[in-house]
Amino acid sequence: MQPPWSYQASRMRGSRRTFLNLFCILWLPLLLKAASSSPLPHGNDPPSPALQSGLYKGHTCVGCVLVVSVIEQLAQWHNSTVKAAVERLCNYIPEKLQGFCYVLAELYGPHIAELLWFCTISSSIDKEMNADVVCHSLKLCKQDPGQPLCHLYPPPKKIFTGFSSVCAFPLLANLCEKIKYVIRNKLPFEDFDGDKFSTFPTLRGYHWRGRDCDDKNTTMYPGRRPDNWDVNSDSNCNGIWGVDPKDGIPYEEKFCKGADSQGVVLLGDSAGAHFHIPPEWMTVTEMSAKSFANLPMAFTDELDWPQFSEITGFLNSTIGGWTDSLYLRLRQRNRCNHRDLQNISQNGGSSGNLLYLIKSLARNQLLDYPAIVIYATIGNDVCNGNRDTLAHMTTPKEMLSNVMQALRYLDTRLPNGSHVILTGLVDGRFLWDNLHDRYHPLGQLNRDVTYSQLYSFLNCLQVSPCSGWLTPNETLRNLTSERALQLSNVLKEIATSEKFANFDIFYMDFPLRQTAEEWRKMGGQPWQLIEPVDGFHPSQIAAALGTSITWRKALHEWPHVLGKENPFNHQIEAIFKDQGGH
Ligand code: CA
Repeated sequence: MQPPWSYQASRMRGSRRTFLNLFCILWLPLLLKAASSSPLPHGNDPPSPALQSGLYKGHTCVGCVLVVSVIEQLAQWHNSTVKAAVERLCNYIPEKLQGFCYVLAELYGPHIAELLWFCTISSSIDKEMNADVVCHSLKLCKQDPGQPLCHLYPPPKKIFTGFSSVCAFPLLANLCEKIKYVIRNKLPFEDFDGDKFSTFPTLRGYHWRGRDCDDKNTTMYPGRRPDNWDVNSDSNCNGIWGVDPKDGIPYEEKFCKGADSQGVVLLGDSAGAHFHIPPEWMTVTEMSAKSFANLPMAFTDELDWPQFSEITGFLNSTIGGWTDSLYLRLRQRNRCNHRDLQNISQNGGSSGNLLYLIKSLARNQLLDYPAIVIYATIGNDVCNGNRDTLAHMTTPKEMLSNVMQALRYLDTRLPNGSHVILTGLVDGRFLWDNLHDRYHPLGQLNRDVTYSQLYSFLNCLQVSPCSGWLTPNETLRNLTSERALQLSNVLKEIATSEKFANFDIFYMDFPLRQTAEEWRKMGGQPWQLIEPVDGFHPSQIAAALGTSITWRKALHEWPHVLGKENPFNHQIEAIFKDQGGH
């Protein structure tokens, strides 16, 4: 028999420090995420408070189950107590984050102390319990009246009966709201004033747009046409400037004049921003301090890795696979393009909310070079977490209106001679077909969580990234693909029938089938093309392979889009080396 909660609570005081750490491990990421990039609402309107609180509750539950699962499995794997497992996990977390944790603890100490007195989880996990039970008893997962009970693990006997409410949950909610408020108001997410380029990597810095070469001078930035051929300074940050002492000709003029220089811009979603949750954060068998070294960076980049992404990646991947990108290939073709990239993507980006995001494009029609703009919202127009998911999908009529608005806006911003490539929506049936009976990273130790279970859990909480595709309901999966195809056809039609003053426009299918085919030929398995933790996004391998397919298509069908090969590339390299790097 389960001892009463109040009895358990009395057994486990005195672990204040570790609990505080745990608190921050659990909440900071979620709150950062909530403050910066929780899935954007469908359409242009702000989400209703009811929807926000529902999403918030769902994400809270997912976060709790995730962290408690990891603690449980650490205890199991190292044959230790839960308390030791919590300490172990806390020691893995980077010290910087722990410091922030203590600051928060000082700020909110009284509340936490009160909470601690009432409620701690450290001894509530034992053989009879699993993460679902713990999180329900902590009221971090809740069953709403008339709604199903959501659980990730197969329910143990006697589950979810007779919990007493020993925890002071209104206090916890209050605390979280405060932290969220602090984070929202202190961190400069999406806070663009003046110059949009930066010398700081994360927080929408140079991981997202080519690195600035003078953060204080707003007339110097990647992508501009050189000022007076960059005789005195590198106004466009491509690493090329000065005058050749042999003949007195500026290097920019010599190497880049008439070279068809152009930038790369992505207008996209989480796939384009390259969403990735490292599986090593939840694989206890290989967990060490190294596993969490990238935690601060990941969260200040909204769990996105644009620096390795398919369109704008420029650093060698540290998350598996390899990096290949349209930007790198255009740079290799013409080194004058160095640093001219912008990844304007956001988790949850769709044709509707992109109309808001697009305003952060940095391109001066008169001063800057043209750009290749990739428009790629590959799923969110048909993906949402609602129970009646079909009713919340973008209609073809809405798609037409949204995309045309975006294109008209681009026509007022892009320098003449630019190009726009519209990418079709993905056929997400690939996900269920290749993952549903495989084990999720959380389920590998005990072989108890499949992707099918994960999808059902997320659906139940209405926080699924895509109820239409991540479901055992085959009819629904087919209907979702049908709508995706209709929306792709809208894009195709726009590309063939519409004309714009400052750019020409093309359409291409999302190259999933070719990517899978290519990977198979290389000896890979289809599931490796999908992000292991979320079971939804394209993986690093899929991104890199996608680039080579897109490039070959463009080279074959629209070579003028890619511009000429610069005959001076070797000379640029010889004189300017890595051109100041990225
Ligand atoms: Ca230059």
